[in-house]
Amino acid sequence: MSLCTREDIAKLDADDPLKGFRNQFELPPGLVYLDGNSLGCLPKSTPDRLATVIREEWGRDLIRSWNTADWINAPRRVGAKIARLIGAAADEVVTVDSTSINVFKALNACLQLSGDRKVLLSERGNFPTDVYMMQGLSMLSGGRIETRLVDGEDVVAALDEDTAALLLTHVHYKTGRMRDMAAITKHAHDKGVPVIWDLSHSAGAVPVNLNGANADFAVGCGYKYLNGGPGAPAFLFAATRHQEKVFPILSGWLGHAAPFEFDDAYRPAAGIDRFQCGTPGILGTAALEAGLDVMLQAEMPALRRKSSALGDLFLRLMDERCGEFGFTPACPEDAEERGSQVSFSHEHGYAIMQAIIARGVIGDFRAPDILRFGFAPLYNSYDDVWQAVETIRAVMVERAWDDPAFARRAAVT
Ligand SMILES: *Cc1c(COP(=O)(O)O)cnc(C)c1O
Repeated sequence: MSLCTREDIAKLDADDPLKGFRNQFELPPGLVYLDGNSLGCLPKSTPDRLATVIREEWGRDLIRSWNTADWINAPRRVGAKIARLIGAAADEVVTVDSTSINVFKALNACLQLSGDRKVLLSERGNFPTDVYMMQGLSMLSGGRIETRLVDGEDVVAALDEDTAALLLTHVHYKTGRMRDMAAITKHAHDKGVPVIWDLSHSAGAVPVNLNGANADFAVGCGYKYLNGGPGAPAFLFAATRHQEKVFPILSGWLGHAAPFEFDDAYRPAAGIDRFQCGTPGILGTAALEAGLDVMLQAEMPALRRKSSALGDLFLRLMDERCGEFGFTPACPEDAEERGSQVSFSHEHGYAIMQAIIARGVIGDFRAPDILRFGFAPLYNSYDDVWQAVETIRAVMVERAWDDPAFARRAAVT
């Protein structure tokens, strides 16, 4: 069966059980947005929610809102909503700080659990911030702690009695390859190694079962598939069995057992609260909660089915419609092994991406040569995929990418 007409695509959209969600997002007319894995779209409910928080809670009730609007528990409350998407208990997740900072906290927690082991292990080509945070911690330790990077397929073999922590991204940001969380966690535990899973490209995008995998720690972003807005708070998961064993490295006052006793001595709070640090950003947390409230109306299996189908369709149309233009899939072709994105390498990847963005199809480019397209099954349609591939085809046929304006690199790609 070949799905080559736009009418066939229209039928897929008409039969889509999630189609009603698209209308809950602000989607600029004429734009095909396949970058929800970098910055999710704005839910229509978010501006009103923020207006209430700003005008009433902040503007009118002022400082009282820490109690009356329960601002103080927002990180716990919103964390509990994220917990439902990642197979965690409500009191194992908190929204706090950025993913980078939470990586640092989780690495340090693992070091405390790992006695005198001294190697922080990750894969080459992991998302840079994760590795940079490892390098910073090595520096802080005065050289006692080492950062070790191996090729992705060698990670399990590299686990040994010196390994203090394994840090992996569950769905790789470039290739979209999804790791077997349960199997890798088991291998690591067999060697006595706690694992940190970075769920930045997983939370809200693919089914995740942290407790089913016996995971130790996890972190992830609020502004990608969770639609929390630019710079939204990130989240941190710590398995219940570890929470009380860890003295938080970033021992800020809001992770204290009794912050309002203003004691000179730090005493960590019970449970997940000790992973909080300073005063949470209430506006950002409110926007993240609005995004989660939309997502939690959908069932994850339905999201997964649709995102797999969108990816399969993209790969297939690229093969059928753009096969002669030199694109090589850089993601697994089997949807089971893939997160909610596809990617392709092409020697003119940057310029091609700029040319299609100029025509209203937004994906992104990741050096050195990857074009990446993310699927947010709540608001992306099968027709988005059709339009994206037709736009790529037109840009290739017309050589529209071959324009100096599209070769100039912007600060953010
Ligand atoms: C996007 C992303 C981050 C981003 O970290 P920030 O601290 O929010 O800038 C971290 N890790 C991975 C794997 C990501 O994809």
